[in-house]
Amino acid sequence: MNIIVLFGPPGSGKGTQAEILAKKFQLKHVSTGDLFRYNMKNDTKLGLDAKSYIDNGKLVPDELTTEMLKDELQRNSDQKGFILDGYPRTTSQAEALDVLLKELFQAEVNVTLALYVDDEVLVQRILKRSLDSGRSDDADENIIRNRIKEYYEKTAIVSDYYKDQNKLVELKGEGSIEEITRSLSEEIEKVV
Ligand code: AMP
Repeated sequence: MNIIVLFGPPGSGKGTQAEILAKKFQLKHVSTGDLFRYNMKNDTKLGLDAKSYIDNGKLVPDELTTEMLKDELQRNSDQKGFILDGYPRTTSQAEALDVLLKELFQAEVNVTLALYVDDEVLVQRILKRSLDSGRSDDADENIIRNRIKEYYEKTAIVSDYYKDQNKLVELKGEGSIEEITRSLSEEIEKVV
C-alpha cells in the first residue's frame, strides 16, 4: 500500500495535482475538504458540525476530521494506495494518520510532498478559482486570509514531523501545472 501526502497552504495546487497524480499512479485521491463539502451539500450531521469552521476559514476539529478520514480509508481498502490532499493539517492528525495506516493496512506514509507558493499568489489564485468553484470560502478575501493564517499557525509545523523522519520533499508550487506534475511525479517514482 503506497501512501503519498500532498502538503501545502490553501491554493498551492494540491487538489489539482492530486487529481492528475491519482490517475497517473493509480492511487485513490482522498481530499478531506471535498469530503466535508460532500457532507455539507447532503446536510449530514458531520456536514452541519463542520460548516461553521469551514465558513470562517478555521480548521475543523481533529477528532471529526480523523473519524471522517478513517471511514473513507476503510471504504477504499481495496485500493493499491492513496494520495492524501489536505490531511494531515495538524501534528496530532499526522500522529493519528500513522496509527490509522498501521492499524488498517500495516502501511506507512511513503513521502510527503510539500508545495510552496508566495502568499499573495495564493490569495489571487483562490479568488480566481472562486469564479468556478462555487465555494463560499474561496470568494471572500478575509476568509481566504484566515485559511492562510490557520496554515501558518497550525499546519506548517507538520512539515517538521515528516522532516524528522526523512519523508519530506519540498518543491516550488509556482510554474505551469505540467512542470509541477513532472517534479512531483519524479519524487513519487522514487518511492512507489
Ligand atoms: P480544502 O478543500 O483542503 O481547502 O479544505 C477546505 C476546508 O475544510 C478547510 O479550510 C478546513 O476548514 C476544512 N478541512 C479540510 N481538511 C481539513 C483537515 N485535515 N483538518 C481540519 N480541517 C480541514
